[in-house]
Amino acid sequence: MIGEITPELWSPSQAELDLQAEHGLLSVRDETLFFKCIRSGGCCKTNLCPVGELDQTAQQCRFLHPHKNLDTGHTLYRCTIAHEQHTQAACQISKGCCMPWSQARNDLLNAHKSDLANLIAVLNIE
Ligand code: SF4
Ligand code: SF4
Repeated sequence: MIGEITPELWSPSQAELDLQAEHGLLSVRDETLFFKCIRSGGCCKTNLCPVGELDQTAQQCRFLHPHKNLDTGHTLYRCTIAHEQHTQAACQISKGCCMPWSQARNDLLNAHKSDLANLIAVLNIE
């Protein structure tokens, strides 16, 4: 979820926003933008949630694991503790995206722009 886009981080064009909205990745309510998570893993590699733990060697949260390798060479990720009762509220992956400008997320989106059917399939994987 995001309420504000910081232009220094990301200045999406209207076309980019329209594309995301068209495919259910973005909804606008009362001028607030809500982006959907596509499980790029971007946030859990750079900005751990309150229950995340850094794996110094991998330089990412130790609970972040690959979920599916896509034909484009990209990987979808999952959090292994996101469904546990005591951690689910704090976990960020698979909820609204608080880092829609992340490189990992944008790379995944760009790789699937020309294959909309595959993009939709990605979003349906749980
Ligand atoms: S950066 Fe956003 S899209 Fe990527 S895993 Fe995190 S919440 Fe999901
Ligand atoms: S959502 Fe899960 S994988 Fe991501 S930082 Fe939090 S605990 Fe780690």
